Amino acid sequence: MPDVSCIMHDIRQCAIPSPLVYNHPKPLAFLGCFVLESCTIAERTAMTVKMPPRALVRTTVSEQTYEDIKERIIDQTLPPGARLNIDALARELSVSSTPIREALARLEREQLVSLELYAGYSVAPPPQPEYLEGLLDFRILWEGHCALIGAPKKRPETLRAMEQSYKKMGSIRRLGTKYREYRKFTDEDARFHQAIIDSAENPAMSKIYGGLHIILLQSRLYLTRSATGAPSEQVLGEHQQILEAFNAGDGEAAQTAIASHLEAGRSRLKRAVKETDPRVLDDRGQRS
Ligand SMILES: [Zn+2]
Repeated sequence: MPDVSCIMHDIRQCAIPSPLVYNHPKPLAFLGCFVLESCTIAERTAMTVKMPPRALVRTTVSEQTYEDIKERIIDQTLPPGARLNIDALARELSVSSTPIREALARLEREQLVSLELYAGYSVAPPPQPEYLEGLLDFRILWEGHCALIGAPKKRPETLRAMEQSYKKMGSIRRLGTKYREYRKFTDEDARFHQAIIDSAENPAMSKIYGGLHIILLQSRLYLTRSATGAPSEQVLGEHQQILEAFNAGDGEAAQTAIASHLEAGRSRLKRAVKETDPRVLDDRGQRS
């Protein structure tokens, strides 16, 4: 069967009436290209013809387009410096130019793509290890400060958010080597640390921290996850120490646990750089 089964096509171009796609009995189907042949006749006839909310279909296409391009950048299928031509990407992903433009604008905010006047979009260079090291120093101060204030509050929202992320990270059995495989782990890691910042109940700090996309930036340094030795058990153990301190309402213990987690992160970062880059950082973060 030709493209008619692809939700990635603009709904106006799709030969299948959009309600059939939206009401497909297999929930994952409308997240991307799917094959109608995999459905039984009974399933096809079970599809209803209720019109979907157009905005929802559009959001799904935009989100999927953004995820596709982001994955290519982090896995370096689109290498640093590669030009990002809107029309070519639209053809390749079988979408109109609107979701491509939306995705590129969002990726620019996340520092994954750069926009230059007259030259257009290109894949941003990965952050220098020295920059990420500096960011770790900043995080130790910043997250430690928020934990000192936030842990004694014992806010149920904070404890719930941290507990949820901790459990989700623990339920991931295999990290894999591609961004698609390990992103659930890093997304939850980002949520866990955002909850630490949010615990201080300072909206300005929460917003600025969220806008830095620190953990996403760090992902770019690892061409493959194997370079880090996939230290999920170690990371979980460190998160557990932080969580226990928050549960006890002990700000100082939480601050100490965060510092040792991020210092351990610094060692993992150096190891990853050493394995992926022949120029090695010494103990002061300088290139040898
Ligand atoms: Zn962490």
